[in-house]
Amino acid sequence: MARYVFITGGVVSSLGKGLASAALGALLQARGFTVRLRKLDPYLNIDPGTMSPFEHGEVFVTDDGAETDLDLGHYERFTGVPARKTDSISSGRIYMNVLEKERRGDYLGKTIQVIPHVTNEIKDFLSIGDDEVDFMLCEIGGTVGDIEGLPFFEAIRQFAHERPRGQCIFMHLTLLPYLAASGELKTKPTQHSVKELRSIGIAPDVLVCRSEQPIPEKERAKIALFCNVRPEAVIPAYDLKSIYGAPLAYHAVGLDQAVLDAFMISPAPRPDLRRWEDVMDRLTHAEGEVRVAIVGKYTQLEDAYKSIAEALTHGGMANRVRVRAEWIDSEIFEREDPSPHLEGFHAILVPGGFGERGTEGKIRAATWAREKKIPYLGICLGMQMAVIEAARNLAGMTDAGSEEFDHEAGAKRFTPVVYHLKEWVQGSHRVERKPGDDKGGTMRLGAYDAHLADASLVARAYGTNRIEERHRHRYEVDIAYRDRLEECGLRFSGMSPDGRLPEIVEHENHPWFIGVQFHPELKSKPFAPHPLFADFIRAAVETSRLV
Ligand code: GLN
Repeated sequence: MARYVFITGGVVSSLGKGLASAALGALLQARGFTVRLRKLDPYLNIDPGTMSPFEHGEVFVTDDGAETDLDLGHYERFTGVPARKTDSISSGRIYMNVLEKERRGDYLGKTIQVIPHVTNEIKDFLSIGDDEVDFMLCEIGGTVGDIEGLPFFEAIRQFAHERPRGQCIFMHLTLLPYLAASGELKTKPTQHSVKELRSIGIAPDVLVCRSEQPIPEKERAKIALFCNVRPEAVIPAYDLKSIYGAPLAYHAVGLDQAVLDAFMISPAPRPDLRRWEDVMDRLTHAEGEVRVAIVGKYTQLEDAYKSIAEALTHGGMANRVRVRAEWIDSEIFEREDPSPHLEGFHAILVPGGFGERGTEGKIRAATWAREKKIPYLGICLGMQMAVIEAARNLAGMTDAGSEEFDHEAGAKRFTPVVYHLKEWVQGSHRVERKPGDDKGGTMRLGAYDAHLADASLVARAYGTNRIEERHRHRYEVDIAYRDRLEECGLRFSGMSPDGRLPEIVEHENHPWFIGVQFHPELKSKPFAPHPLFADFIRAAVETSRLV
């Protein structure tokens, strides 16, 4: 049976609960324990799949095809443990499960209530796979006191109460605001937040206090006294230059020790922190810098492309260079010549996206990169745009486009080089979709194999001919146009195992121009940079040497 750490937050949102959870996971691993991280989100969406990236940031996709919260991306980047469908749950999903059971008559005529039916459903979810790891770290989204969060808090209280004593602990994150006028750090919001938790029956074992200023010993002792937490378990969390500094920084202030103490694990195994020392060494001792333009639609909110930003950093670490990523709204290129905006960049990345807005600008960015021989990485929609670009400008199909945009406009305007996929094979079974299907959870989702062509740029980058990558899309490049495009130098260098779905294209007469139908960024880690990102940045470094 796993030990459980429940991670909650108070005072304000966006305190970095996800990061603290991920860093704790990494530190427990460094001490030789196995971990799994889980996120419980109080919102009513079934999953974030249908939410706008502006609302909720990136949708992180797991190997088994779940569309999840971006915190699961942090968990994977810090622990390397692939997340699963069962590591992310929302109130919406919990209620849906309960209501489906009610309709089926599973509750045998009982009145269905939040306690016990909803809380039982949450506890069942928490227990999944509890015999597989040493520690299960469960983060509750939102802040204590939110109405939506209450069933989750009640469920974790019951869960801890029902498990053997000492098997579950609570870690609570708060903020110590600094009042510049009086030059003081204030502990009152933290006291109130803990009081709120205790009023629902949860007493924190570890308090993580975010603060912009050093926390004096006297304040730490005061928090410990007023919040009924041991002084060693009041952990300061200061702002960091890089999120990857979190494991070493939290270790230095005793977070992992406090957690092991709370479980009374003694003596605690010594940590091996070499992985994180190497990560920090690569980050802080980078030589030189490359500039990468990310030409996309959701440029106002960096969280919309969280994993891409991280994967670029990892690519830089693999080459020991700093990557300066700059976000450019593709719509600009629909009005203006891309050259003045893109000159000086050493590589162009066009990320995934949905809908027609901004796509003509992405196509122009692809043209620019192809003609100027600047490294180009097109991801998902970015690959589809690169194919349309080649069809229009090299194969003479001036009306080439994607069915996605025709569907949106309700008219047929394009020759669909990219079409709506309705039937495909996943592993050994066939998947089918109908045009009117629900919007949520109906895309080609999760891990699929691809076979890479010999002597291709991608096979060289990966160092293998067989890969498995994660997908999230409805539309697909049509192989009917393969011969015509290959004659123009756009090679279909990666295909699904049945040879029907193009997974990768690359321009033969270009130093580095690759489009991938999947999302390689989701599998990149600071200690294991994704090979495509590592090679993309290597190509960018070469470009930077030429100019
Ligand atoms: N909108 C495109 C599709 O559904 C691309 C999706 C993406 O970039 N993730 O196929």
